[in-house]
Amino acid sequence: MTKPVLIVGAGLSGAVIGRELAEAGHLVRIIDRRSHIAGNCHMARDEASGVMVHVYGPHIFHTNDDEVWAYVNRHMTFMPYVNRVKTTSNGRVYSLPVNLHTINQFFGKTLGPDEAKAFILSLSDASIGEPVTFEDQALKFVGRELYEAFFEGYTRKQWGCSPRDLPASILKRLPVRFNYDDNYFSHRFQGMPEHGYTEMVASILSHENIEVELERDFVRADAEGFGHVFYSGPLDGYFDYEFGRLGYRTLDFEEFRHDGDYQGCAVMNYGNADVPYTRITEHKHFSPWETHERSICYREYSRACGPDDVPYYPIRLSGEQALLAQYVARARMEENVTFVGRLGTYRYLDMDVTIREALDTAQSYIGAVTGNLRP
Ligand code: FAD
Ligand code: UDP
Repeated sequence: MTKPVLIVGAGLSGAVIGRELAEAGHLVRIIDRRSHIAGNCHMARDEASGVMVHVYGPHIFHTNDDEVWAYVNRHMTFMPYVNRVKTTSNGRVYSLPVNLHTINQFFGKTLGPDEAKAFILSLSDASIGEPVTFEDQALKFVGRELYEAFFEGYTRKQWGCSPRDLPASILKRLPVRFNYDDNYFSHRFQGMPEHGYTEMVASILSHENIEVELERDFVRADAEGFGHVFYSGPLDGYFDYEFGRLGYRTLDFEEFRHDGDYQGCAVMNYGNADVPYTRITEHKHFSPWETHERSICYREYSRACGPDDVPYYPIRLSGEQALLAQYVARARMEENVTFVGRLGTYRYLDMDVTIREALDTAQSYIGAVTGNLRP
C-alpha cells in the first residue's frame, strides 16, 4: 500500500488531481486555507437577489479540448452561454472583441469585411515588425485610434503600467474579427455550469478516498506521513518568500445592487483611464436560464497585490522572471513535492488548461508510482 497523498488547495488543480489519484486507489487528503472549495472559481448564491455570484470575478468556461469538455460535463450540466462583452469609451458603447460592428460603429462607416480589412491595414503602423510590446501589437493590428479608445486606458488600469512595458502576448489573447461575430472567445466549446463551479468541484471531490479539510493553512510539517505533496498555493509562499515576493495584481470588487436590470449585459468594460474601474459585471446575466427581478453587480478595480491580498494576475515582467527562475530552481530541489496550478507555477491559466494540466500531472504520478502508464 502506498502512503496517502497530501494536496494543498481545493481549487480546480487540487480537486482534479485528487479525483484522478483517488480513482487510481490512492488515499487523498486535501487542505485549503479558505472556508470554501473551488478556489477562485468559487460561486455563491446571493440571498437577497437569489443570483449566483462569481465571488472572485467572472468565469466563463471555454475550451477546444474534447477530453476536458467531457470531464466537466460529467460533473455538471453546462448551459449554453456565449460571452458577449461590451465596452464604454468616450461616452459611447461598442462591441468587443474588435469586430466589424465595432469598426463600423467607431468610424461611422458601413464597410464590408474586405473593405474593413483594407481600412484597418491602412491605419496599422507599418514600421512595426514582429510586435514585442502590448502597444506594438495594438498599433500593428488595430491602429492608434482603436488602441487609445479601447486598450490603452483599460490596460493601464488593469496592469498599473504603460502598455509599452507589457508583452504583446497579453493582447494576443483577444482576436480582431472582420465579420459580425462578437463571441469573446474562439473555442469550439463554451458554457456555464448550471449550478455554479463550486457544485461542480464538489462533485469532483465526492469520492470515498478523498478527505477535505477547509480553513487549514499549509505548513511544511503537514507533509509528514504523506508519500507526496501536490501544492497549488503560491510558489514563493511555499519557501516563505526567501528570495522576495513574486508580483501579482489583485482585484477589489465594489458591490452594488439594483432593482431590475442594471446594464443589460454580463460584462461592460470601461476603456477610458479617467473611469477608475476596469469593468462592471452584472452577475445574473451569466445565468440567463434563471429569472431574477433584483440584481447584484461588481465594479472591478485592479491594483498591486499586498501581502494580505488575494493574488489574481501574475505580472511576469522582467524583474519577476529573474525571481521566478530562482524559485523554480529551488522547487526542483524539493523532493516529493509537485508545484501545480496558477499559483504553484506562477502563470495565468484558464480553467480548461488548469484541468488539462491537472489530468496530465495526476497520470504521470500514477504512472511513476505503479510503473504502469495509461495507454
Ligand atoms: P486557485 O483557484 O487559485 O486555487 C488554489 C487554492 O489553493 C485556493 O483555494 C487557495 O485558498 C488554496 N491555497 C493557497 N495557498 C494555500 C495554503 N498555503 N494552504 C492552504 N490552501 C492554500 N479561466 C477561464 O477559463 N475563464 C474565465 O473566464 C476566467 N476568468 C478569470 C477571471 C479572473 C479575475 C481570474 C483571476 C482568473 C480567471 N480565470 C478564468 C482563471 C481561473 O481562475 C483559473 O484557471 C483557476 O482558478 C485555477 O485553479 P487553481 O486550482 O490552479 O488555483
Ligand atoms: N484589454 C483591454 N481592453 C479591454 C479588454 C482587454 O485593454 O476592454 C486588454 C487588457 O490588458 C487585458 C488583455 O487585453 O489584460 C487581455 O484581455 P482578457 O479579456 O483576456 O483579460 P483577462 O481575462 O485576463 O482579464
